[in-house]
Amino acid sequence: MVTHGLATHVRRLLPGISALTALVAAVSLSLTPAAGAQEKTLNVYSARHYQTDEQLYGEFSKRTGVKINRIELGDEPLLERLRAEGDKSPADVVLMVDATRLFRAQDQGLFQPIESKLLTERIPAEFRASDNTWFGFSNRARVIVYNRVMVDPKDVQTYQLLADPRNKGKVCTRSGSHPYNLSLFGAMIEHMGPAKTEQWLRGIVDNQARAPKGGDTDQIKAVASGECGVALTNTYYWVRLLRSDKSADKEVVSKVGMVWPNQESTGVHMNLAGGAVARNAPHKAIAVEFLEYLASDQAQAYFANGNNEWPVVKGVKTGNEALESLGPFKADKVATDKMAAQSGEAQKLLDKVGYK
Ligand code: FE
Repeated sequence: MVTHGLATHVRRLLPGISALTALVAAVSLSLTPAAGAQEKTLNVYSARHYQTDEQLYGEFSKRTGVKINRIELGDEPLLERLRAEGDKSPADVVLMVDATRLFRAQDQGLFQPIESKLLTERIPAEFRASDNTWFGFSNRARVIVYNRVMVDPKDVQTYQLLADPRNKGKVCTRSGSHPYNLSLFGAMIEHMGPAKTEQWLRGIVDNQARAPKGGDTDQIKAVASGECGVALTNTYYWVRLLRSDKSADKEVVSKVGMVWPNQESTGVHMNLAGGAVARNAPHKAIAVEFLEYLASDQAQAYFANGNNEWPVVKGVKTGNEALESLGPFKADKVATDKMAAQSGEAQKLLDKVGYK
C-alpha cells in the first residue's frame, strides 16, 4: 500500500516537474539579452507588487540606463523558483517581505554577501543581516488591536498579557506558523528564552476565541464584529483600513482600537521588507547599485509608501498621513537576523503547545 501510494505520488509530481523545468528554461531565455545587444539589464525577482513600484523601477532605469526585467511571485513560489533554477538562475536581485523568509533564503544559500559602505552606513545594523547577505528597506510593526466595547485597553498593553487569564476566550491570530508570527515569537525567544516563551504560547492557545485562520485583516474584522476581543496585526493592514473610503472599512475602524505593545519594556516588534543579491547574479555590480539606489531618500519614500510602511533610513519623510497619525512609538531593537534565526525554535514550541 505504501509503495503504491508513493508511486502514485511520484507519477503525480512528474508532469509538474517537467512543466516547471520547461517554464524555467523559457524564462531564462526571455531574460537573457539577445547576442550582441549592448543594453544593460537587471533581473529582479520580487515578492512585492505595488503601483508605486513602477516609479521605483522607472527612476532607476532613468538614472542608469539599465533595463529592469521584473518577475513578480509570492514569497514561497519565488524561493521555489530560485531553487529550481539553481546555478542557471538569471536572478540578480531578490526582494522579499518578511525577515523569517529572508533568513530562510539566506540559510538555503540563495543569496551572496556584498560589500557596500553606503548600505552599511544608511541602514541601521538591526535591520540587515550581520553577514551582509540581505538588507531591510522598509519596516512594519506588529501591533495589538482590540474591540473598544469588549476590551479595556489596559488589559492588552503587552504581548505577554495576551496569555493572561483575563483575556480568556478573546484572542485571535492568523496561523502561528505564518512567518509574521514566527518572527514575533522568535523575538520573544530572544527576550524571554525558550521556556518562558513556551509558557506564553501555551497561555495564548488557552485564550484563543477560535482556531487560527485567515490573514491579519481578517483578524481586525473579527475584532470589529466581536467574534474576537483582541488580535495581532501588521501596521500596514490597519493603515490600509484607516485610508479606505469604503463604508464597511470605516465601520470596522470605528469599532477597533490599536495599542503599541511593550512600550514600558522591550518595545513593539518590528519586521521588514528587504532585498539581496542572488547567489548566481549575472549582473552583480548593477545589482549592488540597485540595492544602493533603494537606500536613497527618494527610493526609500517610494518603497515604504507602496505598502504603508516606514523607511528604514533615518530622517526620510513618508508623506503618508495615515501612517504618521499612528504617532511615535518605542521599537524593539533586537537584531532582525537574530530573531529570524529563532523561527525554527519558535515552530518547535508551537508544535509542543498545539498552536496551529
Ligand atoms: Fe502582509
